[in-house]
Amino acid sequence: MSKLSHQHNALNLSQGFPNFPVDPKLKELIIKAIQGDKNQYAPMAGLMSLRAAISNMTQQQHKAFYNPENEICLTAGATQGIFSAIQAVVHPGDEVLIFTPAYDCYEPAIQLAGGKAISIAMKLPGFTIDWQEVRDKITSNTAMIMINSPHNPSGTMWTHEDMIELEKIVLDANLLVLSDEVYEHISFDGREHLSAARYEGLRDRSFITGSFGKTFHVTGWKMGYCLAPKHLMEEFYKVHQYVVYCVNHPVQDAIANYLVKPARYLELGAFYQRKRDLFLNLIKHSKFAFKPAHGSYFQLLDYTAITNENDVDFARRLTVEHKIGSIPISVFMNGKDPKMLRFCFAKKEEEIIAAAKILNAL
Ligand code: PMP
Repeated sequence: MSKLSHQHNALNLSQGFPNFPVDPKLKELIIKAIQGDKNQYAPMAGLMSLRAAISNMTQQQHKAFYNPENEICLTAGATQGIFSAIQAVVHPGDEVLIFTPAYDCYEPAIQLAGGKAISIAMKLPGFTIDWQEVRDKITSNTAMIMINSPHNPSGTMWTHEDMIELEKIVLDANLLVLSDEVYEHISFDGREHLSAARYEGLRDRSFITGSFGKTFHVTGWKMGYCLAPKHLMEEFYKVHQYVVYCVNHPVQDAIANYLVKPARYLELGAFYQRKRDLFLNLIKHSKFAFKPAHGSYFQLLDYTAITNENDVDFARRLTVEHKIGSIPISVFMNGKDPKMLRFCFAKKEEEIIAAAKILNAL
């Protein structure tokens, strides 16, 4: 959809990336790292200064301790963290439960490991989990459950009750968890992000993946991280070592120095909430229906009052004829089409205003 938006000179609210400039301080830090000759291989698991900073952040945020020596690894974006965690613990014949709509890198990584993704559809309208269905789908082959909160594409967040249900299930069935928490700092209206790190039973059996691309508006730097208890991280390192060995040294150095001020990630929720509120206020009289996103930088809009076209056709038509790009969410849902489009509001104010104008005219 980004390509189509580009071809048709449309406002691109499809792909999830911010289009405003990075903090000049962060740019200064990366230049300093390069000029300071931090240009050779970093240690396999990442710079100790950055691992220590991540450990501190996790301690502050979730009161959970991850040892920088052997429980943290820097990755080439969360994508590589997710891939490596799956290759480390999923074996041929294993089943992995995923909730759909699901981010698109999960299933191929499971297949490459020889496993099978078992989809469980989230329940509309609230994209909630039917816990009985989760129990029913567990077999003797189930190895892992993958979760993602704040959630792409729905913008919903898991509650404490959800996390407790998950903890009970994985303890009863002796399963692992991969918790994709790339939007960890983007939550709205006073909601708290409930990391798997906060729940003892989950912490002991979870890989948690994060993304500085999302947190510091640098998706092109592809810098993420993985947290896991020592016995799981040992397996993770075995894959990481031969997938990539280590990740970008100057970027790690810059981020380690940038993380010294927690306000830089603590203010992210309020920053994006202003963008969400601007967008939703401007389109509140349009024909689109919506529930405000709880977190992430995505907003779903239900277009049933406008057309009964399928979402792929409508998204294409919006791009080509109306000059606004979005993502049809059936692509995350094995083709099931709830007639909703995903719009990314991580955009400059003037683009949000221009997008709303187009949407209001439909
Ligand atoms: N998980 C989810 C839910 C995402 O939305 C994204 C990015 N769109 C990723 C993982 C990948 O993150 P990264 O860019 O750090 O690889």
